[in-house]
Amino acid sequence: MNHCMRRRVSLKRLHSQLTLFTRRLCDKASENQTSKQKNEIGEQQEREYIPPGGEARNVTDILLEDIKPIFQRQSSTTELPIPRHTDIVIMGGGLVGAAVAYFLSSQSSKLYNVTVIERDYSYTRASSMLSCGGIRHQFSIPENVQMSMFTSDFLKHYKEHLSVYDQDPPEVCFHHQGYLFLAPGDRVEFLESCVKMQRENGAKTVLLSKSQLAEKYPWLNLDGIEAGSLGTSGEGWFDPWQLVHSLKAKNITNNVNYCEGNIVNIRQEVIQVPLEDETTPRTRIVGVDVDHKNGKRYGCNASLFVNCSGPWAGEIATMAGVGTGEVGNELPLPVEPRKRYVYTIHCPDGPMLDAPFLVDTSGVYFRREGLGGHYICGASPTEDSEPDVNDLSVDYGFFTDFVWPALAHRVPAFNNSKLKAAWAGYYDYNTVDQNLIIGPHPYHTNLIFANGMSGHGVQQALAIGRGIYELIYYDEYKTIDLTRFQFERFINETPIREYAIV
Ligand SMILES: Cc1cc2nc3c(=O)[nH]c(=O)nc-3n(C[C@H](O)[C@H](O)[C@H](O)COP(=O)(O)OP(=O)(O)OC[C@H]3O[C@@H](n4cnc5c(N)ncnc54)[C@H](O)[C@@H]3O)c2cc1C
Repeated sequence: MNHCMRRRVSLKRLHSQLTLFTRRLCDKASENQTSKQKNEIGEQQEREYIPPGGEARNVTDILLEDIKPIFQRQSSTTELPIPRHTDIVIMGGGLVGAAVAYFLSSQSSKLYNVTVIERDYSYTRASSMLSCGGIRHQFSIPENVQMSMFTSDFLKHYKEHLSVYDQDPPEVCFHHQGYLFLAPGDRVEFLESCVKMQRENGAKTVLLSKSQLAEKYPWLNLDGIEAGSLGTSGEGWFDPWQLVHSLKAKNITNNVNYCEGNIVNIRQEVIQVPLEDETTPRTRIVGVDVDHKNGKRYGCNASLFVNCSGPWAGEIATMAGVGTGEVGNELPLPVEPRKRYVYTIHCPDGPMLDAPFLVDTSGVYFRREGLGGHYICGASPTEDSEPDVNDLSVDYGFFTDFVWPALAHRVPAFNNSKLKAAWAGYYDYNTVDQNLIIGPHPYHTNLIFANGMSGHGVQQALAIGRGIYELIYYDEYKTIDLTRFQFERFINETPIREYAIV
């Protein structure tokens, strides 16, 4: 055997020994993990499972997976539809998920590998797309005022933030019409205190007396009304669809990985956390399993997981083991879908360009929808008449029995309106205090919430995105202090109730 051959043989031997060694190591490490995964996913799983990165694969598998597709003339697995590993998984790609990805990818010098997993790229059921797109600074809690003001300011510089390769993003069509909240005599004092707080936070809200309302809006019936508060700057409505897509386009240019797939399982492992003199077992999330439309199920491991799944946030939290009963982990995430209807009406003689987004004392609201006498309107049902949430069918009786009469009472011109269309969407409803839940779960500390906005998430999404980026990057809030909105408030029984819920 010549020198060259001898070298080749010994190299070959070394390679096979190395492979064997790695395989043994990997098999050992993967024993626990893979069998656990199999159990978790259940016997009913018929999908081929592509495991996540890390120890779970041996060298032969890696080689086979990378080489086999080349022979089958498919793309290599380096282009898997769901990556095996990433730094941060954003669960849900609606407005909140897109905003979190935007701030993480644009502010932290591309420090993190960010993956957004969204099950429906057409967003047919996402609240962001089914909302009214309203933005107001009129809330009863300072943080809520500040979050909406942050969004108004962002939208003012929308093109600077979201242009891609010097191309302007599509218009978000911000209508600066303001919100008008009406109040009966016994609510005037409360309205006054809210206006004072809003103004202290920089909002341009003004209180209008009954006579001022009559002068400004002659089309209003002011029976039972004593005052109103009007936002004179930065309030109105915009097109959330355009905002989601502009953020997504920007995110993709910032190397955010967008993947279409349904998160069906969240894997956890037990770790020992040092607490005072001893260690305590805690559960940590290691990865998600995602069903892809190609029929396969992919495992994706990460260090951090952000729950941006809107109305389905409670479901995702349960999947992650939130509220399973151990000490410190007794409470579920109190977020559930609640169905809300939006009706489109046509009324050629209705209030014209000066019409604000009006919220009546009955809870009924309306706003203009373009020009030409079109409006959208709706209301939230009472707690004991919440509709079934199994589908997005519309209750037209709710319009004829409740919304229309209340609307026509407040604006008599609406007596002559025609119902043209309607749709339903889900509020991401926080059943405890109808307010945002943001920040890490106290028990699963690598699971971060961005949920429960209960009907005002479109206007808060950008501030939430900014807040989560700050938490991850600086370990504290820098722009708006959202500490009060963390999950711990449910454990400590200190809810923060927002009274201006529509
Ligand atoms: C009728 C109506 C009117 C509204 N009006 C307003 C308004 O005027 N102003 C305002 O500020 N807010 C309004 N809202 C509330 C607002 O729409 C929501 O608070 C906000 O859109 C929530 O955004 P999100 O990104 O968290 O949720 P979504 O937009 O619902 O996005 C969540 C995403 O998560 C995805 N997802 C869920 N589960 C999984 C899974 N297992 N795997 C993968 N992906 C998953 C979903 O497909 C979805 O796309 C309204 C809501 C409704 C229903």
